[in-house]
Amino acid sequence: MVIGRFAPTPSGGLHFGSLVAALASFLSVRRQGGRWLVRMEDVDTPRCEPGADALILRQLEQYALHWDGEVLFQSTRAEAYRAARDVLMQAGLAYACACSRSQIRTQATHWNSEGAIYPGTCRSLGLSAAKPLAVRMDTAKVQAGSIIEFMDGALGAQACDVAQDFGDFVLWRVEDMAAYHLAVVVDDAWQGVTEVVRGSDLLDSTPRQILLQRALGLPTPRYAHVPLALAANGQKLSKQNLAPCLPIKSPSEDLWDALVFLGERPPMDLHGASPAELLAWALEKPERVSTA
Ligand SMILES: [Zn+2]
Repeated sequence: MVIGRFAPTPSGGLHFGSLVAALASFLSVRRQGGRWLVRMEDVDTPRCEPGADALILRQLEQYALHWDGEVLFQSTRAEAYRAARDVLMQAGLAYACACSRSQIRTQATHWNSEGAIYPGTCRSLGLSAAKPLAVRMDTAKVQAGSIIEFMDGALGAQACDVAQDFGDFVLWRVEDMAAYHLAVVVDDAWQGVTEVVRGSDLLDSTPRQILLQRALGLPTPRYAHVPLALAANGQKLSKQNLAPCLPIKSPSEDLWDALVFLGERPPMDLHGASPAELLAWALEKPERVSTA
């Protein structure tokens, strides 16, 4: 059984980019007769906006993007994330880190687009994970050579050197909450997710998530990263750069635009048709985003 998911952060309503990501995942799963899940990535509660989760679900319904089962809220899953963290620490695959951001900046010798790569200062100190310490993955212990390769269903063969490109990334934040990658990997496995179709802004996340799956003995789903919907100024559409929320008063137009963005060519006689009719048309087409 193919199981896919759409996993928005409820920091605001859907924008065109997140609609495209939801639609790509939905079509891929439904074309294979699979289950499509929705998961609210609300673990980072300060970033979440009250009511945004309900708004996103209402928008998905208006686009006829109907999901299976109950929506999973990451804010209910802290104990599962903590247990996974403890497994990794007990296995010697993760360690507590007491470094401040400024210490890391001054000690770093490598940088990537997200900032300084952690220089490994606390790797062999054996600090306990009592709060308020962060916990980092000991990437070299999981993956000798640290090269992670995977076949992306949309972008083709990918390779990444985790040690060089990301270093010992944070699993558990000093604020005593799971970091993004740990929460995603634990939940994808718990929900039985077999394929992840998402925006290419998350391509960088995939090697770290695969490494975590290997460390935890969890299966790796198939991945496909679809192009990002860009604003007219070339920026990714998101809450951060104040992209307007999609107006939910014209779901037919929005869905049409999202289909066209994904390379579909709905016939003109379907222009103005209901979202359910547009999706029914799209689901009769052969699969376009391959995740094989
Ligand atoms: Zn440290």
